[in-house]
Amino acid sequence: LHERLPIEGPEDELQKLSKTLNGMIDRLEDSFTQIQQFTSDVSHELRTSLTIIRGELDVALIRSRSEEEYKRVLLTVLEEVIYLSEMVEKFLFLSRNTSNENQIQRNLIDGTLLFQSVNKHLSSMIAKKQIELSFQIPQPFILYGDEDLLRRLFINLMENAIKYTPEGRAVEIKVYTEDKFIHIEVTDQGIGIPAEHLPFIFQRFYRVDDSRSRSQGGTGLGLSLCKWIVEAHKGIIEVRSKPDEGTRVIVTVPILNN
Ligand code: ADP
Repeated sequence: LHERLPIEGPEDELQKLSKTLNGMIDRLEDSFTQIQQFTSDVSHELRTSLTIIRGELDVALIRSRSEEEYKRVLLTVLEEVIYLSEMVEKFLFLSRNTSNENQIQRNLIDGTLLFQSVNKHLSSMIAKKQIELSFQIPQPFILYGDEDLLRRLFINLMENAIKYTPEGRAVEIKVYTEDKFIHIEVTDQGIGIPAEHLPFIFQRFYRVDDSRSRSQGGTGLGLSLCKWIVEAHKGIIEVRSKPDEGTRVIVTVPILNN
């Protein structure tokens, strides 16, 4: 073997080793910084909600209030608690799933049934905002992947489309195949995303308009989760948007991936 594979001098060996080690240290430092950033983002979110809850309860307890005032306090507290539970759920989902990208389940899934179940999950939200929902789905529509993850992906995308669209407007789901790929588009007629924000919307906790998104119950975790799910299925996710016109999210995955 030695005769066939030339061995470089000891200095080359050392140089190679130190290069490899430096590369590893850089990668470790990067993941450490990411974890630190994530932890501080999560803590910040938790603290903001807890401060609001505490403030509301403190003030409510100082003197007796009218029934109306108590109701308002309870509603604010309820909103914050819903927000916190949603964030914790997404946070757990991310930390549980992003670590083992290779272990996702892969099955043949009936896409039409999947969208029916997503639709059912969002039905009260759709009815409340009187969203005109339409589907253009070819038959058969078969996806290959992890059913739970794909359901979460489309729930997140449709939730955003509904959340950031004014009452009574339309949201369209269009599915079509092209070569060996399947495209799934979610298009809304909502507030849109200004161009300068587009490069950042897949980052964890990134929100275009903090106050507006927060009042809508947004955590800024949804799209980062979507990106992870699409990439785990060897696909890509793109967003095209125009402020005040609407947003189109396009998910492209291989028809059958191994
Ligand atoms: P959030 O939980 O805040 O909705 P996401 O990660 O899902 O977080 O989205 C990040 C940000 O991108 C949102 O806060 C919102 O500002 C913007 N966004 C996402 N989807 C849409 C959409 N369909 N229309 C307008 N803005 C959107």
